[in-house]
Amino acid sequence: MTSLIHEFLKPGTNKGLFYGGRFQQPHQRAVIEVFNPANAKLFTTVPDATADDVQAAVTAARSAFAGWSELDPLDRSRHLHAFANVLRTHMSQLAILESTITGRSIREMNAQMARIPEWLEYFASIAIGLEGESNVVKGGYVTMTHYEPLGPVALLTPWNHPILILVKKLAAALAAGNTCVIKPSELAPVSSLVLAALATEAGLPDGVVNVVTGGPATGAALCAADDIHYIDLTGGTATGRKVASLAGERLIRTTMELGGKTPIIVCEDADIEGAIAGTLFAAFVASGQTCVSGARFLVHDEIYDRFVEGIATRAEQIIVGDPMDEATQMGPVISQKSKDRCLKMIEQAKADGAKMVAGTSPLDLSAEFVNGFYVRPTVFKDVETHHELFLEEVFGPVISITRFKGDDEAMEMANIGTFGLGVSIWSRDIARAHRLSLKVRGGVVWLNDHHRNDPRSVWGGVRDSGFGKENGWDALRAYLTKKSVIVRTAAGYDDWFKGSGRYG
Ligand code: NAD
Repeated sequence: MTSLIHEFLKPGTNKGLFYGGRFQQPHQRAVIEVFNPANAKLFTTVPDATADDVQAAVTAARSAFAGWSELDPLDRSRHLHAFANVLRTHMSQLAILESTITGRSIREMNAQMARIPEWLEYFASIAIGLEGESNVVKGGYVTMTHYEPLGPVALLTPWNHPILILVKKLAAALAAGNTCVIKPSELAPVSSLVLAALATEAGLPDGVVNVVTGGPATGAALCAADDIHYIDLTGGTATGRKVASLAGERLIRTTMELGGKTPIIVCEDADIEGAIAGTLFAAFVASGQTCVSGARFLVHDEIYDRFVEGIATRAEQIIVGDPMDEATQMGPVISQKSKDRCLKMIEQAKADGAKMVAGTSPLDLSAEFVNGFYVRPTVFKDVETHHELFLEEVFGPVISITRFKGDDEAMEMANIGTFGLGVSIWSRDIARAHRLSLKVRGGVVWLNDHHRNDPRSVWGGVRDSGFGKENGWDALRAYLTKKSVIVRTAAGYDDWFKGSGRYG
């Protein structure tokens, strides 16, 4: 399989779609172009799958469903452990592939990749502990509950962590006994195809993991497919609204992991050096392209100047460059469109009167990377709460810092807007930090850290950041429905229409 990853690492490799346990040629020749963000060059193409391709993948998932869902949970668990082991074997090659296509630095990708098999192992382990209930109830009945998977499900993923986000969803969906059709982002679709092939190599039955590549139209066709019974989307809020509306019409359940504008609240009693180091990571890891990127800094008046100077100095020192160089700390953003958005928001922040304290000097890139989609780590201070930079998700390495004087004001500012995803609070007084965590709007709150993610720790937003959870039992249960079976144990029978029956 290393050879397959090597093949995909060669520019121009297009092996088609993946369903029914193998690569398949699409019904039409239309392709999606995939660029290397570090040099802006065309890297490869993947099929732009049509509704017919989608239907073929859904049919493959349906064919595999009976066999997969009827396996004993222990056997499914063994499959998932085997899949985790295969991922471990190919980890460094997968990191290179992921880095090439997303522009994320290889140092980051190696660190992230090392943890990804844990999601498969975790869900493989908890799914075998899923037990129904049984009760003896009045009137002579035994009631029982059984968990059942839903059928073929759709997993729609973004480009920022293509493998991590996919594996989080896939592990829960498969452990619960569903089969999957994946629609990865058109900007970073390759690793999902490789992952599906690795699942087959690990021994998962053909048709359990299927991938269709394409853009929003392919995603919409998948969501509309009659035999799809759950949609798990990670993406922007606008996409979430469309997909959830369609799911609503179809009366199928969804998980919506959407956008955010993560507040970082730094109190005057924080360990300032620790907070600078931790929030620098929060803001600039993945070039600021995570849904919980620390973006809206709120810093207490008493430490404001010292903190701003510290974070601006550290931001200027971040080494930006070739993602494949181990010394690189930050790669490019994903696309020219993304870069343009960052630059436009930087100009707007200046026009609004915020002060740019990091990101002013030009990037020093070698000739190979000058056309890459690079944006300097950029810090604005004195951002006001009505500024665009305070309100809108940038999805790039551009942060805003605003001063607060008391906890009530910090909470008021943190809760402006309609997102509710990540938050981090920095204070040595853990009771105070905890009090704030109860008042702030968000689905994931870190105290004195940021970005930490574990299969056991539920993840998800509220309001415009979505609903439903990844990770933990909540994610597993979302992929199941509980069936109630009621057994009559009372002797004889009732005959309601002859007057001898009971009602209810
Ligand atoms: P996006 O919404 O453009 O795309 C996400 C996926 O949905 C892609 O596969 C895309 O092709 C598909 N899609 C787009 N329109 C569709 C439609 N009408 N019907 C069906 N599918 C459709 O998002 P993106 O740009 O890939 O990712 C960035 C966004 O994702 C950011 O807003 C970020 O905050 C969010 N995100 C959220 C989380 C989280 O855990 N909450 C994690 C990562 C990223």
